[in-house]
Amino acid sequence: RSKEALLRRSADNLRSPICCIMGHVDTGKTKLLDCIRGTNVQEGEAGGITQQIGATYFPAENIRERTKELKADATLRVPGLLVIDTPGHESFTNLRSRGSGLCDIAILVVDIMHGLEPQTIESLNLLKMRDTEFIVALNKVDRLYGWKPCPNAPILKAMKQQSTDVQNEFNMRVTQIKVQFMEQGLNTELYYKNKEMGKTFSIVPTSAISGEGIPDLLLLLVQWTSKTMVEKLMFSDEMQCIVLEVKVIEGLGTTIDVILINGILREGDQIVVGGMQEPIVTTIRSLLTPHPMKELRIKGSYLHHKELKAAQGIKITAQGLDHAIAGTSLYVVGPEDDLEDIKEAADQDIGTPICIPSRE
Ligand code: GDP
Repeated sequence: RSKEALLRRSADNLRSPICCIMGHVDTGKTKLLDCIRGTNVQEGEAGGITQQIGATYFPAENIRERTKELKADATLRVPGLLVIDTPGHESFTNLRSRGSGLCDIAILVVDIMHGLEPQTIESLNLLKMRDTEFIVALNKVDRLYGWKPCPNAPILKAMKQQSTDVQNEFNMRVTQIKVQFMEQGLNTELYYKNKEMGKTFSIVPTSAISGEGIPDLLLLLVQWTSKTMVEKLMFSDEMQCIVLEVKVIEGLGTTIDVILINGILREGDQIVVGGMQEPIVTTIRSLLTPHPMKELRIKGSYLHHKELKAAQGIKITAQGLDHAIAGTSLYVVGPEDDLEDIKEAADQDIGTPICIPSRE
């Protein structure tokens, strides 16, 4: 497509939806992310979790490949899916809400053996407060007594392979969990039975160990967002970008990991980010991303880009980033812009950091 078409605001030019994973500790959030991305961060296989940017980009081709057994429409309207991985550590829990959430949709992970737990309810309250759409991943179905693994199978296919006992236990647990959601004022239903999507939240049973239901989860995420969020997902060249983390990387110095929500970033752009003493004005030296998907495990190696289009998780190297502050916006100084105005906006940001939901 022509460069102009790529910049035009239209339903044919959507950005990737941004998705975050939330839920109670130990429900399998890390494992689920590992499973969809085909790595094993949880057991340290990727070796370099610190090397990563707190976001994984799943290109549409990859999603198509993973979901082909579901025989869905091959044309995905979004270029991919950006999943934000914000472990519940300090730098994130400190960030306060600014009303506008960063995520377009969330995965709320619930352990099928435990049902709703205290942090599930906290997550639910955050989601309600921000009016964020979410899908429930009802995880650990492989722990149902007598479960027969069907690696990476769509959930209905896997269910058909199970004994009556397993199916009964599954139905009983799902019913109980639906009641628990009801007690929180929410209607939920297994996604393949959900006739009122939008009013009733969908449940996708999953196993992050053997991969059942993962195709269903991926497909539902991209289909639902591209069907119902067209307006919100239309690419806009009005830049929206936030600093996720400030990290020192050997050989690169102090870098910032950012989420580009909308717009384009280019090598050489003059940028302004919030700083401890005063806003930092600098120039992008390099725009880096991890290798997509599997190659994430190639420790310490990044792809270099001349420019990147939203939505993306990006590592930026530049001079003078030592005192940058996570949670603030990044601004690009355009030819028409007044640097002082932008610095003022960046300064105001520091008082009201944007909220990135902590996973726990
Ligand atoms: P988090 O705290 O939500 O990130 O949870 P983790 O991903 O660290 O998982 C917690 C524990 O549950 C680990 O021991 C995982 O191996 C295990 N686990 C996660 N998902 C599944 C699953 O689908 N099935 C089973 N049997 N175990 C799981």
